[in-house]
Amino acid sequence: MIQRPRGTRDLLPPESRLWQAVEAVAREVFGSFGGEEIRTPVFEPTELFVRSVGETTDIVHKEMYTFPDRKGRSLTLRPEGTAGVARAWLENRLGDRTQPLRMYYIGPMFRYERMQHGRYRQFSQIGLEIVGADTPLADAELLAAMHEFFLRLGFADLEIHLNNLGDPEDRARYQDVIRAALEPRRSELCADCQRRLDENPLRVLDCKVPSCQVAAADVPALDDVAGDASRQHVARVEAHLERLGIPYVRNRRLVRGLDYYLRTVFEVVSPQLGTNAVLCGGGRYDRLIADLGGPAVPGVGFAIGEDRLIEVLPARFRDVALARPAVYLVPLGEAAGAAVLELARGWVREGVPVEVEITGRSLKAALKRADRDGFRVVAMLGDDELAARTVTVRDLAAASQTSVPFTAMPAFWRDLPAASARREAERP
Ligand code: ATP
Ligand code: MG
Repeated sequence: MIQRPRGTRDLLPPESRLWQAVEAVAREVFGSFGGEEIRTPVFEPTELFVRSVGETTDIVHKEMYTFPDRKGRSLTLRPEGTAGVARAWLENRLGDRTQPLRMYYIGPMFRYERMQHGRYRQFSQIGLEIVGADTPLADAELLAAMHEFFLRLGFADLEIHLNNLGDPEDRARYQDVIRAALEPRRSELCADCQRRLDENPLRVLDCKVPSCQVAAADVPALDDVAGDASRQHVARVEAHLERLGIPYVRNRRLVRGLDYYLRTVFEVVSPQLGTNAVLCGGGRYDRLIADLGGPAVPGVGFAIGEDRLIEVLPARFRDVALARPAVYLVPLGEAAGAAVLELARGWVREGVPVEVEITGRSLKAALKRADRDGFRVVAMLGDDELAARTVTVRDLAAASQTSVPFTAMPAFWRDLPAASARREAERP
């Protein structure tokens, strides 16, 4: 038997309903902040990620799926979404449009990671980018859109961690500060961090090995070394968040794993997720497009790990998304069997989702199936019903039975509490 590659998953029904429901909320929320969808290729020239994410980051150093194509060009399956958006911005001259552009994406990313719970080699991210605005207001708007998204899913216990990564000049100085602080303690660091100390000391602060975290705790915070411009920028972002009542914590150790970030960086952490607690990461990247050979265009964005998000989805949202959102229409007898698809088509056109019993189950077997698969409404169509142009509708939740004329089914469905529960659950 052929098996899927390690670290990949098959998303099966009914779980795929959760993904659809979450993505629908993302489109709705990000769309209502002025966002539009961008879809970039799943593979890009390797150089794009080396130049943007950074040669000495874990992602580029050891997590990329890189391969030569048939002409020997080096391609890489995208490990993250921002680099592709920046490339597309340049290549399609999006700078000629009115700025800023708010763009969201939903799609698979690929990283060659060690197998662990909540860590996959193909995983999905939902991201939002605001390109062409350098104001603290842009960061705050982005965070507000993110916060709204999590609220609509019903999350109440997430924490936003925020920090100032400084400007690139600050960072260059800070690399020296880290090196000076950690060089005497080199032997306490993991092998990766001993290399990081030479190549990119900032990355040591992002290491999850406990002994490295202990050593890193004594390094001064970047914000103490940063210049006024970045400190004022982040302070203004914080003021906006306070005004909006969006809770956050200032985490002076937060550095994030990608080189292109500066000034504002943040993560969203779920207390339920343990060591893979980070649900979302983001920050400002004002030099990224310039580093790719373009003009100095600022940007800020985040990416939410969809796999991890689904894992900790609040129960209420989950239940509603998983409820079978259809009428189960059961024909009983030959004449009903001949008429059933036409009836279903009419209802579908009126907005009633219908699943027809097409395998000839008896009434008893059909009711058992309805129960097992979570249908709320079973509509039975026998000879008498056909003659009267009605169906006998059983509401399994209310344990009641009524006769509903064919033409009244759309109204019946609309008035059913189960049908409106989905809309309810998404209300903030
Ligand atoms: P981590 O520290 O957990 O490795 P990261 O800093 O590498 O995360 P980002 O590059 O910031 O992650 O990606 C944003 C989000 O994408 C993460 O917060 C996480 O939810 C998700 N994510 C990243 N890598 C994976 C993976 N291998 N499997 C599942 N989700 C992932
Ligand atoms: Mg990682």
